[in-house]
Amino acid sequence: VASLPQSAVAAVPALSFEFFPPKTEALEQQLWNCIRRLEPLAPRFVSVTYGAGGSTQERTHTTVARLVRETSLTPAAHLTCVGASRGEVDDVARRYWDAGVRHIVALRGDAPAGEAGYTPHPEGYAYAADLVAGLKRVGDFEISVAAYPETHPTAFNAQHDLENLKRKIDAGATRAITQYFFDTDTYLRFLDAALAAGITVPIVPGILPVSNFKQVAKFSAMCGTAVPDWMGKLFEGLDDDPDTRHMVAAAMAAEQVRLLQANGVDEFHFYTLNRADLSYAIAHILGARPKKA
Ligand code: FAD
Repeated sequence: VASLPQSAVAAVPALSFEFFPPKTEALEQQLWNCIRRLEPLAPRFVSVTYGAGGSTQERTHTTVARLVRETSLTPAAHLTCVGASRGEVDDVARRYWDAGVRHIVALRGDAPAGEAGYTPHPEGYAYAADLVAGLKRVGDFEISVAAYPETHPTAFNAQHDLENLKRKIDAGATRAITQYFFDTDTYLRFLDAALAAGITVPIVPGILPVSNFKQVAKFSAMCGTAVPDWMGKLFEGLDDDPDTRHMVAAAMAAEQVRLLQANGVDEFHFYTLNRADLSYAIAHILGARPKKA
């Protein structure tokens, strides 16, 4: 693992920003402020999530369609196959194609809350690899898929999970975006394991700027992301001090991305949570500068 460069002159990396579709007018305003702030950084694409079980289908579509109409950005629509027939999923994909959207982030999705485990829809795409193959039949989409440096929480084992990632790539995906992680070594080891398994497409690190440590710690337990002890120490005593928390979060994420950059990573995906400030600052540290209109 390379150490942090003191005066790195790395090439400006490719960026992507992830948003979620807003539920209220106030949140809509917040999202669009965020989009307008990040737009001049000319990301490779921006993506919009699909709520659990497709619950935000219309809102995701509306947001993506507005990105096409009103911005210079290239949108990617997240699409899950849980709880829907193949025909229903294909219809959603076709609507995207007709709206000019050419990039899909293809995911299985999670079982609805309260259900013991995931069961494929009887007429549905069972797993994300099946969804990728189905989407390719609808149109020649660019397809990104999910990857898990710390292994998907319900995977049989790490090797099985890696073979699943390979199936998604073999079915037509050309990029994997990782679940967020805090232990950089784990991600770098995962890149080696993926390469050894014959996966040669970019595996883009998903970066989550930690604006609320308590919430992130809770969520991480559900999605299988380890929260190292040093992080607990870093945010200790800051629960009621959002300003300091924010600065600590920026410093922590800056260190993470610079370490990744020093190790040759040249593409980054930001989980913005519809707030621009931390993502913008970290992108700036990586070398991104606004493009003049
Ligand atoms: P898959 O790749 O299908 O894998 C799911 C699990 O099944 C893994 O454990 C895998 O090893 C196992 N598996 C795969 N194939 C088989 C098989 N044939 N037999 C047995 N086991 C198998 N969720 C949303 O609801 N909306 C979103 O917008 C969204 N965006 C995301 C974006 C990113 C970048 C990431 C990392 C996750 C996102 N998620 C989203 C969460 C995702 O839906 C969940 O993590 C889900 O549990 C797995 O989705 P997947 O596409 O990785 O599934």
